Amino acid sequence: MAKKAEGKSDQGNYDIGLQGTEKGVVTRFPPEPSGYLHIGHAKAALLNDYFAHKKYQGKLILRFDDTNPTNEKQEFEDSIVKDLELMGIKPDQVTHTSDYFQELYDAAVKMIKSGKAYADNTPQDILRDERMKLIDSKHRNDSIEDNLAHFEEMKAGTEEGTTWFIRAKINMQDPNGAMRDPVIYRCSPQAHHRTGDAWKIYPTYDFACPVVDALEGVTHALRTTEYNDRDAQFQWMLKAMDLRHVYNWNFARMAFVRTFLSKRKLTKVVENGGVWGWDDPRMPTVRGIRRRGMTVPALQEFILSQGPSKSITLMDWTKIWATNKKYIDPIAGRYTAIDTKDKVTVTVTGAPATHTDLKDLHAKNPAVGQKKVVFSKNIILDQTDVASFEEGEEITLMNWGNAIVKSKSTSVVDALKSPLATLSGNAPISSLELELHLQGDVKKTSKKVTWLSTDQELIPVKLYEFDYLLTKDKLEEEDEFEKFLNPTTSTLTECLADCNVADLKEDDIMQFDRKGFFRVDKAFKNGEAAVFFQIPTGKAGK
Ligand code: ATP
Ligand code: MG
Ligand code: MG
Repeated sequence: MAKKAEGKSDQGNYDIGLQGTEKGVVTRFPPEPSGYLHIGHAKAALLNDYFAHKKYQGKLILRFDDTNPTNEKQEFEDSIVKDLELMGIKPDQVTHTSDYFQELYDAAVKMIKSGKAYADNTPQDILRDERMKLIDSKHRNDSIEDNLAHFEEMKAGTEEGTTWFIRAKINMQDPNGAMRDPVIYRCSPQAHHRTGDAWKIYPTYDFACPVVDALEGVTHALRTTEYNDRDAQFQWMLKAMDLRHVYNWNFARMAFVRTFLSKRKLTKVVENGGVWGWDDPRMPTVRGIRRRGMTVPALQEFILSQGPSKSITLMDWTKIWATNKKYIDPIAGRYTAIDTKDKVTVTVTGAPATHTDLKDLHAKNPAVGQKKVVFSKNIILDQTDVASFEEGEEITLMNWGNAIVKSKSTSVVDALKSPLATLSGNAPISSLELELHLQGDVKKTSKKVTWLSTDQELIPVKLYEFDYLLTKDKLEEEDEFEKFLNPTTSTLTECLADCNVADLKEDDIMQFDRKGFFRVDKAFKNGEAAVFFQIPTGKAGK
């Protein structure tokens, strides 16, 4: 029975009916090094790690599936190793499919020699058509000698060789299309990022996967459910080559609204400059969501709470960010920021002489530390707050006390700029007088506002809020994704923040009172504004 310990990512207990686990469990995570890991890959990696290391005392292999030299790069390999480490995943072994190019070649030769594979040069479109109509290729029954000769041409990478490929001879009449003689080897003259020019032929995923799984002692090959149809083919390959048995086990692919989890599309936005790079906070990459403020325990908890379910649901981002909030709320220090352009200068009468108090950064968690709060008669407030004040009204200055609104005024310059607005009372307020009323009850006021004394070093900060990259919830297969790219995906607000913000470091997670949670992307240095990214909390669904 499937059982799950509440919210504890490292204690979830899924009984998924893996067979043959008594003989040991070896799983593998096989990314192609052609991009940075996205949240879908994170799910595959965490599940493989879960079964190898947490559920069973087994082994996890990180295998770079580098059989397609066109898109692969060392940079991507390095990033994958780092991202796994960041997620707390420690593979017991790191391998490459390319480590087995010789064995794979030998296996293919053996297949040809035993009549289980043949060389073909049918053009792509015709091949597709023949597959649909259950028609044999005219080369299906070529002689073993001819097949071997074509394979050698391919291996030499000659022009003739590039037009040929090798197919497994399974069954062109099979109701399962994956069994209709899949391609197992292709010729590509492109240099490989590890083997250079040594090979001109590359095994396909369908061939390399069962062979290398068997060779590496993988016991359970976990794949996403769209491979269901290919399980029969995988098992056929194992038998055809007399290889060790490997169990297949499938789980649901991860999918989120307004998000594409495809390296091809992600590469396109990175290259076309729609984002700042693979680690852009709008990217659904592990690095991107981390930079947006996702914590590792929240990511683990969320992904493992999806567990090994097989039904694909289009999730919105609400739940994962709500999970994250549980982790950041208790530890995020509280600070204050006031909009730079819309600030109002305020004089507080009755204020004591300028002085600094130490207060907890987090009212409920003193362990977070303390901050300096400067009290003085010169303060600034947000225009939107001040605009709502009535003369004579009692309001609360947060963490100070109550004050009574004395007089609001619009500067002559502003009044001249917008005489109509001034007459109708809508012109911006440029100054305000408040009279401190500390004996007033803070529970009785309806307006509690943030404020900052100007008798401290105010720190310039840039606050970014991000939106989805897409305008459509679910992209369909036929949709050109470029047409659904959101034209505006970030909003920048410049603010002044309290002096304590100068001490925050890159990657710190904090909260600006009444504004939300933020991650520090760039710390304050040499007078240059610090940069903050707003962390979604699941409320707006972003
Ligand atoms: P992409 O379409 O992004 O290139 P891929 O499947 O081709 O994805 P791989 O690098 O081959 O990328 O994937 C490594 C592993 O991650 C595979 O086991 C794959 O099934 C799994 N994976 C990829 N995308 C998802 C996803 N959205 N949800 C769950 N697992 C995924
Ligand atoms: Mg792939
Ligand atoms: Mg893919």
